[in-house]
Amino acid sequence: MAFTKKTVRDADVDGKRVLMRVDFNVPLKDGVVTDDTRVRAALPTIQYLLDHNAKVILMSHLGRPDGTGFQPELSLRPAAEKLAELLGREVKFVEDTYGEKAREAVDALKDGEVLVLENVRFDKREKKNDPEIAKILASYGDIFVLDAFGTAHRAQGSVVGPAAYLPAYAGFLLEKEVDTLTSIFSNPERPLVAIVGGSKVSSKIGVLDHLIDSADTLIIGGGMAYTFFLAKGYTVGTSLQEPDWIERAGEMLKKAEEKGVKILLPVDNVVTDHFGEDAVGEVVPSDQIPADRMGMDIGPKTVELYTEAIKGAKTVFWNGPMGVFEFDQFAKGTEAIARAVADANCTSIIGGGDSVAAVNKFHLADKMSWISTGGGASMELVEGKALPGVEALLDA
Ligand code: ADP
Ligand code: MG
Repeated sequence: MAFTKKTVRDADVDGKRVLMRVDFNVPLKDGVVTDDTRVRAALPTIQYLLDHNAKVILMSHLGRPDGTGFQPELSLRPAAEKLAELLGREVKFVEDTYGEKAREAVDALKDGEVLVLENVRFDKREKKNDPEIAKILASYGDIFVLDAFGTAHRAQGSVVGPAAYLPAYAGFLLEKEVDTLTSIFSNPERPLVAIVGGSKVSSKIGVLDHLIDSADTLIIGGGMAYTFFLAKGYTVGTSLQEPDWIERAGEMLKKAEEKGVKILLPVDNVVTDHFGEDAVGEVVPSDQIPADRMGMDIGPKTVELYTEAIKGAKTVFWNGPMGVFEFDQFAKGTEAIARAVADANCTSIIGGGDSVAAVNKFHLADKMSWISTGGGASMELVEGKALPGVEALLDA
C-alpha cells in the first residue's frame, strides 16, 4: 500500500471546523480563472466535507506575491467565485488571512458552509514557515486537512504548520496523487516504459536515476537528448547542451546497459538555424547535426521507433516534452508521442507542468489514466523523496 497516512475518511468532521490547505494556484486573466483544473481537483474532498456537515475553511497561495501585503491581481477571490460556480452553492470569501477580519469570518461560519481565506503568501512569514502564522491558522480549525498536492513538497506555513497543532489528515487528491505516483514504480504492470524529455539533464537527474532503477525501457527526448548525444561522441551543433553533465549522462547509459534497461535515444531530429516561432525545420540523423543547427524536436523515424515501444507498454510514465512544443512546427514529436500514449492499452501517468500543458494542448487529457496536478511535487515523488506536507500528517 503506497499511502500510509490518515485521510478525511478517518476523521469525524460532523459539525467540526475543518481547516484545509488546497492548491488554488490557478492562472488568471483580468480577474477571471482561465484554467480551473486545480479547483476541480479539490472538489471531491470539499464536497465530502460538506456532505458530512463540516464547516470548511480553505486556504491557498496564488502566484508569487512580494509578501508585503495585499496585491489585488493575486487575490484568491476569483478562485472562490469559480469554486462557487462549480459547487453550485454559496462560497464565502474574506479579504484577510491572519487578522481580525479572517477570525470573524471563521467564527460566523455555520455547519455545511465554505469560506475561502485570502492568499496565504501576502505575508512573507508563510514561505518562512513561521510558527506564529501556523498557530493563527491552526486556531481557525478543529482538524487540518492537506489536499494541496502541488505544494506538498514545500515546508511552508499553511502546508505543514497546522499539523503541529491539529490532528492532520490527507484529502482525496493528495491521497490519489501519492498513491498513483508511488505505486507505478513499486509494483507496475510490466513492461514499464518511461518517457523523459524537457529541457535539461541537470533538472531531471534524480528522476532519470530512479527510472533506470525501475523502468524496462527509458525513452529520452527533448533538449536533454543532446547532452546524451555528446556522451556518445556525436556533435550537436548549437543544440541545448550541458557540458558539465556529459560524464553523468554517459554513466547513466552505462548503468542502464548493466541493468538491462533499454534506453532509446532519438535517431533523427528536426533542426533549425535559430530558436524562434518563425524558424524552419529540416530533418537530420542524430550523428549528422550540422555545426550551425540546433535540435528542436525528434524526427519522424524516432517517432516511429518510440511509438512502437509505447505500443507494447502496460504502464507508461511520461515527464517532459519531446521538443519545443510551444512552437507549432516543433510540436509534432510531442503530439505524436502523446497520441501513442493515449492509444496504448496501458496505464498512463503524466507528470510535469509542461508535459501536462502539452497533453492539454492536444486535447488528450481524458485519454490518460492520471494527470498529476503538481509539477515539482510529482518529480520529487518520482525521485523517491518524501514530501514534507505528507510526512506531517497522522500515520494510518
Ligand atoms: P516538465 O515541465 O514537463 O517537467 P521541463 O520543464 O523539463 O518539462 O521542459 C519543458 C521545456 O523543454 C519546454 O519549454 C520545451 O520548449 C523545452 N524543450 C523541449 N525540447 C527542447 C529542445 N530540443 N531544445 C530546447 N528546449 C526544449
Ligand atoms: Mg517545466
